[in-house]
Amino acid sequence: MPKLVVPLVAAMLFALPARAEPADRALIEDLVVANHILYAEGVVDGFGHVSARHDKDPSHFLLARSMAPALVTAEDILEFDLVGNAVDANGRALYFERFIHSAIYKARPDVKAIVHSHSPSVIPFGATAVALRPIYHMSAFLGGGAPVFEIRDAGGDGTDMLVRNPQLGEALAASLGGAAVALMRGHGDVVVADSLKLVVFRAIYTELNAKLEGEALLIGQGRVNFLTDKEAVAAAATNSPLVGRAWDLWKLKAMGGR
Ligand SMILES: [Zn+2]
Repeated sequence: MPKLVVPLVAAMLFALPARAEPADRALIEDLVVANHILYAEGVVDGFGHVSARHDKDPSHFLLARSMAPALVTAEDILEFDLVGNAVDANGRALYFERFIHSAIYKARPDVKAIVHSHSPSVIPFGATAVALRPIYHMSAFLGGGAPVFEIRDAGGDGTDMLVRNPQLGEALAASLGGAAVALMRGHGDVVVADSLKLVVFRAIYTELNAKLEGEALLIGQGRVNFLTDKEAVAAAATNSPLVGRAWDLWKLKAMGGR
């Protein structure tokens, strides 16, 4: 091999993120199921995505190639590093907003799964001064508050609203802080949890909470009796171990016999 080629090849190898040991097959299968459940439950449509942190390498995560969530199969799941580079894209198109996932996994070691969606009932709460708060026990995880990410603060006026680079991803992660949910003004939300099943549960109940809170604000003429902080903490602790029950039902509905 010519003298110059060796350092060149070595530099190329170091520039590419290395593929981790293969992820647990069950994790990949659950990630596929999560995509289908979120569609069946009206959280995502043709857009939106869900990811899981790699079980063997915490500096990598798993996310589908750019496609509608309801069509995702195990073959569509790619591996990414925490800068948002795909390890194994092989020319396949990537989600513009993969930086939502890379930046949050980097900032929050406790987070194992992330949903980004344009969850329709949530949109009014990102666009007004009305806070999204837990209206019932199923969404007690909102008790810690749901901060609003204002993309103009990070990207100025005139962005296309998408978190399409690492800098916007970091700004979103900073807005999220230690919360379970952050609203994205004029766009949607991001939901995090320490497992795939819990993040799907939270994404679904964030949508339902927003719908119910909107109705309660109307019939109560702005006066709503929300869960207190103590009630929210207690209810969230009760719900977390029970998410498997809901997951099994949602999976049956979304996947049928598959
Ligand atoms: Zn989006």
